[in-house]
Amino acid sequence: MGDPDATGRFGRFGGRFVPETLMPACIELDAAFRDAWADPTFRAELDALLRDYAGRPSPLTECHRLSEELGVRVLLKREDLNHTGSHKINNVLGQALLTKRMGKTRLLAETGAGQHGVATATAAALMGFDCVVYMGEVDMERQKLNVFRMRLLGAEVRPASSDSRTLKDAVNEAMRDWVATVETSHYCLGSVMGPHPYPWMVRELHRVLGDEAREQCRALLGGADPDVVVACVGGGSNAAGIFSGFADTSAELVGVEPAGGAAVGGGVPGVVHGMTSFLKQDEWGQVEEAQSISAGLDYPGVGPEHAHLADIGRARYPNVTDQEVVDAFRTLTRTEGIIPALEPAHALAWVIREAPALAGRTVLINLSGRGDKDVAQIMDLLEGEG
Ligand SMILES: *Cc1c(COP(=O)(O)O)cnc(C)c1O
Repeated sequence: MGDPDATGRFGRFGGRFVPETLMPACIELDAAFRDAWADPTFRAELDALLRDYAGRPSPLTECHRLSEELGVRVLLKREDLNHTGSHKINNVLGQALLTKRMGKTRLLAETGAGQHGVATATAAALMGFDCVVYMGEVDMERQKLNVFRMRLLGAEVRPASSDSRTLKDAVNEAMRDWVATVETSHYCLGSVMGPHPYPWMVRELHRVLGDEAREQCRALLGGADPDVVVACVGGGSNAAGIFSGFADTSAELVGVEPAGGAAVGGGVPGVVHGMTSFLKQDEWGQVEEAQSISAGLDYPGVGPEHAHLADIGRARYPNVTDQEVVDAFRTLTRTEGIIPALEPAHALAWVIREAPALAGRTVLINLSGRGDKDVAQIMDLLEGEG
């Protein structure tokens, strides 16, 4: 996928809409990442971490029983097998290494469901950094286990207690802290969103999974690419990672949103968290809370590059309901012995629904994370159904 222009624009989306006080920090970060990304020593160090600590490369798994059931050849990119259980580790290890290179010693992060907070706290423990994670008060109550995990890892979890007390408020708090402590702190943002350079930088740090998947597919398919590449979309980082491996092929790119948080499907252009993108807004232009079964996809916006890919028609962004997601979660578990996180179960749910239209084609799904974290929620739900 193409790089943004000098102002961080992907077409009419993206940019850098931050207060004057944050501008120097964004500019410094842009220069530092550009420099690091062009430096073979930095790249080799990151590759070694991804291999020896995170467990890369993650495998490509062909789903024989599910394929048979659907009449679609289904392949999974197994990001669930990474250390900490999702694709998120790719991004945080890259940003942590960059933090060290910039001579900083403190990591800031926002988190919604807690997964990005846990990944950041993990990287901070590995590198010996201080770590502060902002989390909405409401989310802290809902995700107690992840709050405890972050504290075990040595991070301080600070409640964001303004407004709706959820993810979007945690992002604002983290940015506020960054302005005040930029000499020592790096803001480790968790998805392909926010002001430039984040959407571009985070995509580049996840590109590794797309590049691996492309090679693995070609080895398996005798040099061919899959017909369709599918990923779930919250902010859009795992989708950006896998799309970047296939953007220059003829594969169709599909990003699946939750019906209750369809920023591309149901949003309008607006500015939030330092970028222009599609946003869920109410009739007064207030940012609307996203609502889905999967806390990890409850982000009311979407990364600007996805807005652009939708705009130019290179990717499309359908959505699925919570019920379809639960069914997909159970189907993969039963047919393949793989319990997916509820987030990638969205991608799977779309493939299952569209199976008649996809008959005979090869579909690659990014299995962005494992479902252990979601099993208790599914148990409550199914027991509630009796
Ligand atoms: C956080 C998370 C997501 C959503 O984030 P994106 O930036 O849209 O990738 C998806 N899947 C898993 C497993 C996650 O933990």
